[in-house]
Amino acid sequence: MSACVYCHHDRGRRSCPVLGGLISTTCCGRHRGVEIACPSQCRYFKEHEEYQRARLSLGFHEAWLKATAQIYDKHQSELLNWIIFFEISIYEYFHRNTRGTDEDLIEAFSFVKHKLSPLEIIETVGSELERHLWASTQAYLKSHPELDENLAKAGIEVFEALIRMLKGPAEPRQALHGLLGHIETYIGVPEEIAKASKESPVETPKIILPGR
Ligand SMILES: [Zn+2]
Repeated sequence: MSACVYCHHDRGRRSCPVLGGLISTTCCGRHRGVEIACPSQCRYFKEHEEYQRARLSLGFHEAWLKATAQIYDKHQSELLNWIIFFEISIYEYFHRNTRGTDEDLIEAFSFVKHKLSPLEIIETVGSELERHLWASTQAYLKSHPELDENLAKAGIEVFEALIRMLKGPAEPRQALHGLLGHIETYIGVPEEIAKASKESPVETPKIILPGR
């Protein structure tokens, strides 16, 4: 038997395109998209991801509707538009990057909120996700003068509350799956992303013979 390339203990059963060998089903399930930056077209990543997003999208949608009901009632369209933009910006990031957890999102929200407070000085450059969200926030504020820093923060806090509420102890990407599924099912994937996704075929990892 060939041992898993990740834990060197269990039997390796799936060809992992990142680690270049056979990974156990447990390690693949536990670490894909968390410690392992899977290619988005790897079938083990893709099939699980699609299943989880579809499964968790309704729960996210219902919580989202509740969280935004007051904003909707008050006709705060500038805030609602920002909320949708921000969520799509998260989606864009996870279209290009497969790795990230609910905790990473919460940290990134706090990074952007600190950046929006002119009196607070941030020393760190931030993670790739943090830099991405901050760059899109800055661009949005520039082109939407009706949205000020405080309102922008209020929008981010909506997501912070949703992620905190929907995350689970067993699955580090649970709330994120819901958010990404919410875009796909209820908000709509931006056209350029939808088009690009259709063009790339699913990658079936090559079978690696045991013992090699
Ligand atoms: Zn393993």
